[in-house]
Amino acid sequence: MADATPAAANLFVETAEGPRLLGSRCATCQAPYFPSSAACHNPDCNHSDTQPVHFGPHGKLWSVTVQGYPPPPPVVAADPYRPYAVGLVDLEADGIRVIGRLLVEDPDSVTPGGPVELVLAPLGQDAEGRDVVSWQFKLG
Ligand SMILES: [Zn+2]
Repeated sequence: MADATPAAANLFVETAEGPRLLGSRCATCQAPYFPSSAACHNPDCNHSDTQPVHFGPHGKLWSVTVQGYPPPPPVVAADPYRPYAVGLVDLEADGIRVIGRLLVEDPDSVTPGGPVELVLAPLGQDAEGRDVVSWQFKLG
């Protein structure tokens, strides 16, 4: 993506199998973390040995809301602003819930419960006109 730039470093990656979130998992208690954490924060876990892992791409939409006004920088949004849906996604196979924008035309039409899939897509453009890409979820 020569004309695109990631919204943030070390949060997602494009693999041969598709996009994945870059997280970590405690080697002792298996607690998952996204973003990645160098230490385990489980108060019942006495060790702090986390390993990098990939999360995704399949999940279930656990909750949804609509971002009705432009968020402050550094969040990138389309200009002119269009409200968008934000989902809390249950990545059941990974044992973690993550937040992400939803790729839908009508943010008010989304209801929780259905399957979603991780994708990398533009959030908007930076000052140089490049697409700013981040993880998002598409329905289905
Ligand atoms: Zn642990």
